[in-house]
Amino acid sequence: MSFARGRELVLTPGPSVMPDRVLRAMQRPAPNIYEGELVEITDSILCDLGRLAGTAGETALYVSNGHGVWEAALSNLFGPGDAIVALASGTFGHGWADTGRVMGLDVEVLEFGRHAPVDPTALSERLKEDTAHRIKGILVVHADTSSSVRNDVPRLRQAIDDVGHPALLLVDCIASFCCDVYEMDDWGVDVTVTACQKGLMTPPGLAYVMFNGKAAAIARANPVRSPYWNWSPRTQPERFYERFCGTAPTHLLYAQREALDMIAEEGRAAIFKRHALLARAVWAAVVAWSSDGPLRCNIEDPEFRSHAVTTILADPHDMLQLRRWCEDEAGLILGLGLGFLVPEFMEGKSVFRIGHMGHLNPPMLLGALATIDSGLKALDIPHGPGALEAAAMVTATIS
Ligand SMILES: *Cc1c(COP(=O)(O)O)cnc(C)c1O
Repeated sequence: MSFARGRELVLTPGPSVMPDRVLRAMQRPAPNIYEGELVEITDSILCDLGRLAGTAGETALYVSNGHGVWEAALSNLFGPGDAIVALASGTFGHGWADTGRVMGLDVEVLEFGRHAPVDPTALSERLKEDTAHRIKGILVVHADTSSSVRNDVPRLRQAIDDVGHPALLLVDCIASFCCDVYEMDDWGVDVTVTACQKGLMTPPGLAYVMFNGKAAAIARANPVRSPYWNWSPRTQPERFYERFCGTAPTHLLYAQREALDMIAEEGRAAIFKRHALLARAVWAAVVAWSSDGPLRCNIEDPEFRSHAVTTILADPHDMLQLRRWCEDEAGLILGLGLGFLVPEFMEGKSVFRIGHMGHLNPPMLLGALATIDSGLKALDIPHGPGALEAAAMVTATIS
């Protein structure tokens, strides 16, 4: 018998929970796509996005998902044969590298496994060897949604500067945006990519590239830029439709505007604080579960854990069963073990993820943790006691 009535709770790491206000903002007839309100809304979205990224640079908006802006960033800046170093500490690091490889870039991956952040010292060492400065760009994912590692971007910038290397630093903030603290200009990031369906609480379909003056100059000197991904007309349009290289994504713009209003009402600092607290509640529960049995956080050091998603290991137990139980019996949808397709992790089945990004409050999260706790009991998966008390102790510190 299933009790999965009530409102279903999707805690996969994106698309995240849609606020009712965002859904309601889309309930309207088609607007004029040439002038008027939509033009103002779009300008205000771009302005807010730059502010949220912590940059005075430009923001280009694309009708696309995250994969699209991976390609957008690379296609503006690089061409076939250009040398790129991708730092990988999870599936998404490899994904961006693969995109570059298919585009004909000469991509070298520095691999740091599934359980640890990328190592700034290894990057300095590699750049030191590149005395001819062939390497044109460094790609890194801020929070890799598969491993739930959060990389230390300022230390990577330091590693590049320490050896005086001119390569651009490109950062994927798709999972971390509006969840983890990020300061593009202060941290010396040249290009940031993000998308709307995670911390930005909007249905998938809008994605953004922020770039500074150094990246803009390199892009201008690029002789072959694809007409769709070219960020220049999008940021300096003569006509409004050039912002999108075609029809505006009308209702997504209303949705994004509403989500940004909610973000402004809460405030950036409060949003980071809420995500930090909810993340700590999840970790406290996992620590309690781990006192007896297989469950543990994939990233051992809390300093390198994302505040947007937590990857939990349970080898050799089948967490697919747990996810099924949570979904079918209780209406809670959890994330699968992405990027663990090896026998050691039962082809990903001994891993699951809890997304805790975006429109989320303690009753939603504590309810999810309690539901997982029930599932562990129902399925006889060994686990330590006290997870809910531990999580509640964390949320008790809200003040
Ligand atoms: C979700 C995600 C992506 C991919 O975004 P899509 O919209 O699915 O293309 C890339 N990088 C990170 C870190 C992500 O979390």
